[in-house]
Amino acid sequence: MNLQAPKGMNDILPDEIGRWHRLEAAFRSTVELFGYSELRTPLVEPTQLFVRSIGEATDIVEKEMFTFDRGDESLTLRPEGTAGAARAYVEHAVHGREPLTRWYYLGPMFRAERPQKGRYRQFYQAGCEVYGDAGPAVDAEMIDMLVRWLERLGVSDVTVHLNSLGAGGTRERYRAALVEHLAPREASLGDDSRRRLVTNPLRILDSKDPRDVAACEGAPSILDVLDDADRAHFAEVRRLLDRLGTPYVVDGRLVRGLDYYTRTLFEIRATGGELGAQNALLGGGRYDRMIGELGGPEVPCIGFAMGLERVLLAMPREPLAAVPTVFVAPLGDRGLAEGMVLARELRELGVRTELDGRRGSMKSMLRRASSLGASLVAIVGDGEVDRAVVSVKDLAAHAQADVPRADAARTIAGQLASKGAPGGA
Ligand code: AMP
Repeated sequence: MNLQAPKGMNDILPDEIGRWHRLEAAFRSTVELFGYSELRTPLVEPTQLFVRSIGEATDIVEKEMFTFDRGDESLTLRPEGTAGAARAYVEHAVHGREPLTRWYYLGPMFRAERPQKGRYRQFYQAGCEVYGDAGPAVDAEMIDMLVRWLERLGVSDVTVHLNSLGAGGTRERYRAALVEHLAPREASLGDDSRRRLVTNPLRILDSKDPRDVAACEGAPSILDVLDDADRAHFAEVRRLLDRLGTPYVVDGRLVRGLDYYTRTLFEIRATGGELGAQNALLGGGRYDRMIGELGGPEVPCIGFAMGLERVLLAMPREPLAAVPTVFVAPLGDRGLAEGMVLARELRELGVRTELDGRRGSMKSMLRRASSLGASLVAIVGDGEVDRAVVSVKDLAAHAQADVPRADAARTIAGQLASKGAPGGA
């Protein structure tokens, strides 16, 4: 049997995980500085949650969800994090406890997309949600936080695309204006877009099909149909971003693939790097109607979600510093038992320690120690046990000396630390 990971789903092997850990830690520490706390929700939710929040006529709901039945319940592997977070917010009546809530999450999402570089069926998102702030300061703060954070990670070649979808009836008004423009051009649209003309015409603006791009030429911009309040909100977001010195481009064509957005909408794209076509690092915006639509009170919200694989592709690769390691090489029965005790003592002092208990030859153990990049080898044979010492070999310095067994762990930890490595007591 040829067993492989499911299509579009990847293993992350230990030689890659260091970059993931660094990225995740950098994300957590940054958003926590802004007052966000972590939320963890189930990886599966009732299917209806996604249908109602993301929207029936979106690609995600139409064809990308991993849905299964369990008893008489239809469940779906979460394709994104906002819907589950909103469900939790309503379910736990969080609005009754605090007027303003800042949550972040980090974890795998699932979409049955056609896999390619930067696009997978299981991928990781990190995101934030703010509940209870109608903005526009929080909109600008979020965008500024993300741009500065990406810069610190070494991803400085980014463009912020900014749009407003309006609140209230703006979207509906615009939909009508767009259909009026596209209907006479229907015959020249691609198949998907012809269907979308009825189900979800705004998505046609997102299409990369050259026929659709041509048909959209000269279409009205949503920014032209905003009402006064939408316009004032958008102007204020822009004024604050200008003051913060965070560049953006106003992009009236930006719609993104989810139906729940209102007013501010943004996407940050990488301009260089290894990303290729899938160059959207993150997307976000306001969704002021979702909490009400899920049965909660009217609470304005804004959030974003970032694809961690894409950020990793855009980030420069830096060599990983090796973690200083002690290798314990036991020889003989008593040596093995004593070596295990020594290894435990070293680990209790915080020293990374690997013991080779395979009863191999000294030569093979030294080979293993050097391939691991261990700094020190602690040799514990029956002879050392008799003399109450441990023989410590410094691989780089080609030096070897006995140290008294009684305080060997502390001595070895000190030697490791003096080589410029962490790990002492
Ligand atoms: P979305 O949840 O569709 O708004 O996407 C937000 C971000 O998640 C995107 O900008 C990508 O970075 C990432 N993303 C979305 N879908 C995928 C996917 N299939 N594979 C990898 N990353 C994805």
